[in-house]
Amino acid sequence: MIRIAKGPAPQHLTVAGAAEARRHCADYEADAAGYDTGRSKHAIAEGIYAHRTVRQALEQAQHGKCCYCEAQPEKPYAFLHVEHWRPKSYSQQARRGKALRPGYYWLAYDWDNLLLSCHFCNSSNKGNVFPLFNPAARARNHNGDVAAERPMLLKPDGPEDPRDHIGFHEEIPFGKTPAGVETVQILGLDKAEHAGRQRLLQNLKDAHGYVTRYRDRTSPEALEVVAMARAFLAHAVRPDAPFSAMASAFVDRNPVPL
Ligand SMILES: [Zn+2]
Repeated sequence: MIRIAKGPAPQHLTVAGAAEARRHCADYEADAAGYDTGRSKHAIAEGIYAHRTVRQALEQAQHGKCCYCEAQPEKPYAFLHVEHWRPKSYSQQARRGKALRPGYYWLAYDWDNLLLSCHFCNSSNKGNVFPLFNPAARARNHNGDVAAERPMLLKPDGPEDPRDHIGFHEEIPFGKTPAGVETVQILGLDKAEHAGRQRLLQNLKDAHGYVTRYRDRTSPEALEVVAMARAFLAHAVRPDAPFSAMASAFVDRNPVPL
């Protein structure tokens, strides 16, 4: 996971989305007990939060990668879903925990709450799990204060660099801080499904090996191999490269010789 810098909110969210969110809030005010028990449910409009312009803005900000695991599917990024960081329908403090209803309906069209994530991270793992270090402070409706919450899940588009919280043993992520530990667990980031990371790690090791072995040679072939290996390593740590957090951790551990 790396830090994501988003541009301004797409107009579809600030106009149609804001109006729809106001309606959801009014509906809640009119029937709070119904929404709290789950008898009444907000009809969250996917056509607004996952509007083409929203997807495009997120694809651009995230370089077409999952906001959590940095997998980069082939264009047109079909398996990246618009994900609500704070769950829209209901939330859970733990995976088998009670469904806390309603969810964060007032943030359903909030640019700050939207990201693109892959099926593995979002549907197979995170789901509606959104644990807090201070569960009693959870905002249960739009009158609550999300600023008082201390979420365990790292926010890729938040103020902190996720790389300060998550490190790598080889290709396997691990938490360096309590939030990092929880985030790896919530998203299943350390599960073996991400074979792409393993392949990339092998390529990084190979490239590093070529530079180390051939950097003093002067034959045109050796110069070319070393130049290609250096270029590969330099590209792998860029924010638009898949699994760039893992590649950065590898290069930090194994500096490329001059
Ligand atoms: Zn993912």
